[in-house]
Amino acid sequence: MTTAEQLYRLQQRDQRLDALRKRQRDIQAAMNEPTSVLDVRAAAATAQQSLAGLQSDLRHAELERQTLDEKIQSEEKRLYSGRINNSKEIMSLEQEIASLKRRRTRLDDQMLETMFALEEAQKTQTAAATKLTTIERRWHTHLANLHEQLTAVEAEIAELEVETEVLRETLGASDLAIYDELRRKKGGRAVAHIVSGRCEGCQVALPMLDISRARQPALAFCSQCGRVLLAG
Ligand SMILES: [Zn+2]
Repeated sequence: MTTAEQLYRLQQRDQRLDALRKRQRDIQAAMNEPTSVLDVRAAAATAQQSLAGLQSDLRHAELERQTLDEKIQSEEKRLYSGRINNSKEIMSLEQEIASLKRRRTRLDDQMLETMFALEEAQKTQTAAATKLTTIERRWHTHLANLHEQLTAVEAEIAELEVETEVLRETLGASDLAIYDELRRKKGGRAVAHIVSGRCEGCQVALPMLDISRARQPALAFCSQCGRVLLAG
């Protein structure tokens, strides 16, 4: 096998590696959680927070109501105990009880409002949680698929890396230096076939001299684009 043929074989693997590494980067980028999932998760968290806030409000109100009830009961008990004879004191106590009852009524109204709001918040939270479950399930399926693709791509990359190493070991350092430099400068294509008298790299019709040089064992280069020419 000529050096040009060996370099061409190396190039085929290097080009495949380039494509696979690009695919690997694309897959990795696609594995970042999309905004759609993040948005739904944020909405579910917000719904959960407002629900928890209302539940806490209601618990506090219930405790407050209990305290008010106890206070009203004890004040009424005191009022009807017959131990208070002073009319001024009785009046003041009656006013106090009336005030406590008004507070209790306001609190009952507030609690009713909170309960309505809680019912709505519960519905919103359930809907948001269901949506999140659905979108997360879909995303995880997609992610598992991407993982599978990435594993396959990485396995092929590892295999090709070994193959290119083996091929490079059979080539001389100066030939490899030429090849690497051309690959870097010529869009990953250092070696070009001659097809119908034209360089496949730059499509220019080659002079006979280039064509006959390409048939020799030593490396020949396209006089137009500088790539290594591969005859046949
Ligand atoms: Zn050329």
